[in-house]
Amino acid sequence: MAALKYSRQREAIKSYLCGREDHPTADMIYTSIRGDFPNISLGTVYRNLSLLVELGEIRKITTDGADRFDARITPHSHFICRNCGCVMDVMVPLNDPVPQVNQSWGHGEVEECRMEFYGICEQCKQSAKCS
Ligand SMILES: [Zn+2]
Ligand SMILES: [Zn+2]
Repeated sequence: MAALKYSRQREAIKSYLCGREDHPTADMIYTSIRGDFPNISLGTVYRNLSLLVELGEIRKITTDGADRFDARITPHSHFICRNCGCVMDVMVPLNDPVPQVNQSWGHGEVEECRMEFYGICEQCKQSAKCS
């Protein structure tokens, strides 16, 4: 890939993501970044996000709803709330299944395993109790 031109917009998107733990959607990033870049379009935000994913600088999380974006690229799992759709990091150390799969599967080399957990987040559990 040719050297990429520095882009203030791309940098702003990345630094916005780095400051968040809630795995925002492209829409959320767009809404917040428009304050600094009034002329930016949602399309530009999407383009920059896919570029950052391609560069390995951020991760895309595919959920049942809109795609989420994550600046934490160290291996970790996600918890996705079935009720409100929030995405949280699961930093519980889990045994890496990749070596085991590679040992016995034999249809290619697995490099990474991404796990997603689904359930009800604490906040939704609490509000279900109150109503
Ligand atoms: Zn929830
Ligand atoms: Zn994450």
